[in-house]
Amino acid sequence: MHNVVIVGSGCAGNTAAIYTARANLKPLVVAGHEPGGQLSLTTLVENYPGFPEGINGPDLVENMKKQAEVFGAEFLHGSVVDTDFSTRPFRLSIEGDWIETRTVIVASGASARWLGLPSELALIGKGVSSCATCDGFFYRGKKIMVIGGGDSAMEEANFLSRFGSEVTVVHRREEFRASKIMLDRARHNTKIKFLLNTVIEEIYDAAKKVVTGVRLRNVKTDAVWDQDVDGFFLAIGHIPNTKVFKGQIETDADGYIVSKGGARTNIAGVFHAGDVQDRTYRQAVTAAGAGCRAAMEAERFLEAEGH
Ligand SMILES: Cc1cc2nc3c(=O)[nH]c(=O)nc-3n(C[C@H](O)[C@H](O)[C@H](O)COP(=O)(O)OP(=O)(O)OC[C@H]3O[C@@H](n4cnc5c(N)ncnc54)[C@H](O)[C@@H]3O)c2cc1C
Repeated sequence: MHNVVIVGSGCAGNTAAIYTARANLKPLVVAGHEPGGQLSLTTLVENYPGFPEGINGPDLVENMKKQAEVFGAEFLHGSVVDTDFSTRPFRLSIEGDWIETRTVIVASGASARWLGLPSELALIGKGVSSCATCDGFFYRGKKIMVIGGGDSAMEEANFLSRFGSEVTVVHRREEFRASKIMLDRARHNTKIKFLLNTVIEEIYDAAKKVVTGVRLRNVKTDAVWDQDVDGFFLAIGHIPNTKVFKGQIETDADGYIVSKGGARTNIAGVFHAGDVQDRTYRQAVTAAGAGCRAAMEAERFLEAEGH
């Protein structure tokens, strides 16, 4: 019987592990399909406090993991594939093996949607990004491309126009999902250009390990052409990793956990931390803060129950 099982080993899960381990709760962290979480995909992180020179994303999460292990946190490879939170103790299946726990901290994140091109995967963190707030600063005076047609694409394009020499928004359709106000703001921004009915066929140059351009195709005319690009930003949404909690933890229509205040979910003893609940900020530091909050609430919950 565990006191705390933490689902996810990103910033939120690892921070929750540090706090619960230092509270002597011997947390078990289930690392999931992406050990270290989204930061393991990127290179330099310049906005996490405490690192004036910046720090590589994988090093940052690995340090958090080591810090949690120092205090007795245990990390388990594998993913939670099923859950039963209908009675206590809570039960989770890790790749088929069921474990029991008094509390759960869900820190399973929200994965960015990617286009799915092999070249894109190879260039994540090397010019391909899903986070303008995180990486916009690296593209001062550079050519930036934003993919998407919703509010977040318009917001990212406007934000990135502070840095880039030009920003091209590429959208596969003619119509936008973005609200009129966001679209108008982008349309009135002289640095932003639009390419409609257009898709990305290839991102160059995986061999050079840096983004240098893209191949585009107009879906109406089938015209194909290359364009120079330095920064390639996806803004086509995120997928919260909540499938295995479906029907148990309350989520909104997009699958994000609905908070019941603090780190509480609709189930007493099950807490949320990080991007799996936060559709607004989605930063390493906010996820870490949420991990701290969830850990403190789990501690108090266990204490109140006499454990
Ligand atoms: C390319 C890129 C660059 C970024 N750069 C920055 C930056 O410079 N600065 C910044 O502040 N933020 C940055 N971010 C955002 C930041 O990475 C996220 O906000 C942060 O990682 C969220 O932490 P999290 O712990 O909530 O979730 P995640 O990091 O997404 O971690 C989720 C964890 O849950 C696990 N998991 C999922 N499903 C299961 C399951 N069923 N069972 C077990 N485990 C599961 C995964 O394996 C993973 O370990 C970047 C994101 C990306 C994609």
